Amino acid sequence: MARRYPDFRQLVQKANDSLDVWEASFGMFDWHPSLAVDDERLGEAFDEYLRRLTAAPGEDGGNYPFFHPRYAGQMLKPPHPVALAAYAAAMRINPNNHALDGGPPTSQMEKEVVRDLAAMFGFPDDHLGHLTGGGTMANLEALFVARELHPDKGIAFSKDAHYTHSRMADMLRMDHRAVSVTPEGHMDLNALEDVLKTGNIGTLVMTATSTGLGAVDPIADALPILRKYGARLHVDAAYGGFFVLLAEKDSGFSDFPAQHFRAISEADSIVVDPHKHGLQPYGCGCVLFRDPTVGRFYSHDSPFTYFSSDDLHLGEISLECSRPGAAAGALWLTLKCLPLKATDGLGPILASGLRASRKLAELLKASDLLELFIQPETDIVTYLPAGRSLSEVDSASQSIFEKSMAAFDDPVFLSTYRMTAARMSALHPKLDVDMDQSRILRSVLMKPEHEDYVDHLHARVESIARSLP
Ligand SMILES: *Cc1c(COP(=O)(O)O)cnc(C)c1O
Repeated sequence: MARRYPDFRQLVQKANDSLDVWEASFGMFDWHPSLAVDDERLGEAFDEYLRRLTAAPGEDGGNYPFFHPRYAGQMLKPPHPVALAAYAAAMRINPNNHALDGGPPTSQMEKEVVRDLAAMFGFPDDHLGHLTGGGTMANLEALFVARELHPDKGIAFSKDAHYTHSRMADMLRMDHRAVSVTPEGHMDLNALEDVLKTGNIGTLVMTATSTGLGAVDPIADALPILRKYGARLHVDAAYGGFFVLLAEKDSGFSDFPAQHFRAISEADSIVVDPHKHGLQPYGCGCVLFRDPTVGRFYSHDSPFTYFSSDDLHLGEISLECSRPGAAAGALWLTLKCLPLKATDGLGPILASGLRASRKLAELLKASDLLELFIQPETDIVTYLPAGRSLSEVDSASQSIFEKSMAAFDDPVFLSTYRMTAARMSALHPKLDVDMDQSRILRSVLMKPEHEDYVDHLHARVESIARSLP
C-alpha cells in the first residue's frame, strides 16, 4: 500500500511540540495527584480498548474497515490526516465555539469556513450560518426556522427524504406531508403541486442526494412551482452538497443532475455535512440561511455567554450550546489544503466517486448475474441479483450481502436497501411480484480509491452471486 501523505503522526508531533511551548508560556504548575492513573490499570484497560476497537468485524463485533476501498457499505469515509491532526491539536486546548471567548481562533475559523461553504452554493455574502453536531441538528434548525416563519403551516418532503424530517417535524409539532416519488426516487412534481395547492405548506424540503438511492430531487424544476404557491425551499444536501463543486459547467458525467445542484443557490436554507463528504471526523454539520434576520428566532438572554466582545457570538444563532472548536479548526485546515474547487482540492476527490459509480454501472449492465437497479446520479450504486421474482431477488441480495462480508480472505462490504414492489416492478417489469417489498444491494463509492477498486468489487460480488444455489 502506498504511504499515506501527509502523515498524521508527524503532524500531531509538530502540533504537540507547539502546544507544549504555548502551555509552558503560562508558567508551570503541579498537576493534581487525583488525576494520575495507575500504570497497570491503564495498561490493561488500554489494551482492552484497542482489542475491542480492532476486533475482527462480524461475529467478533469489531469495526468494519471503513478506511479501505473494500468497504462500500454505508456512508462512511475516513477523515483526512490533515483534519485529524487539526482536530487533535485543537482538542488538546478544547475550545468551545459556543461563545467567542470560548475559543476566539476557532470561532473565527468557523465564520470563515461557513462563508466558504455558503459561497460554494452561491449564497449571498450576508447569509447566516454555523456548524452543528451533524446533519440532524442542522436540519432541526432549518425546520425550527421554517416553523417560526410559518407557525400555522406545515412542511413537505419526499417519501425518500431522510427519516429525520418526519421525526423532527413531529418533535416540533408541525404538520408534515410526504410527497410521492418516481420509481427512480425523484420527488414527483405533479404530486408536489397537489400538496402545495392545499395552501398548508410553508416550507418544502428537497433532497440533493438521497441517503438510499443517491437520487437528486428536481430542484430547478420545482422552483417555479414553489414561487407560484409562495412556499419556501429547504435543501437537505447533508450527503451530496459538495457535488455542487462539479456542477458549474458541463462536467461530462452522464446522468449527473448539474442543473439541480446549481439551483440549490435559490434555496432559503441548506444543510451540508462536512463529516460525510468533506473529509471530517464526526461532529461536523452545517446549516445556512439566506436571510440573516432569521437569527432573531434564536434570541435568548443568557447572562453568562456575553463576555468581552460585541461581535456576533455563534452561540446566539445556534440551538446547541457547547460545540467543539476542534471541528471548525479541522474543517478550516482541510479547506486550506484542499479547497472547495472543481479542479483542485475537493472537486477531484468527488469526481473520482462519480467515475467509480459510472464504471460499476457499466460492469453491472454487462453482467449476466447482476442487474443495475437505476442509473447512478451521484456515487451510490444500487443493483440486484438476477432472479425471476421479488422473493428470489430479496433472498439472493441478503445472501450476497452476508457472504461477501464473511469471505475470509477477500471480503467486501455492501449494504442492502428495501424497495417497494411497485417501484421494483416499474423498473424491472419481468420480476414476478410475490412480495410487497424486496431487498436490493447498494454500494456507496465515497472514497477516491473506489475508482480503481470497482473492478475487483464487481468481480467479488459476481463470484459470490455465481456461487449461490
Ligand atoms: C446523513 C443525512 C442526514 C442526517 O445527518 P447526520 O449527520 O447523520 O445527523 C440527513 N439527511 C441526509 C440526506 C443525510 O444523508
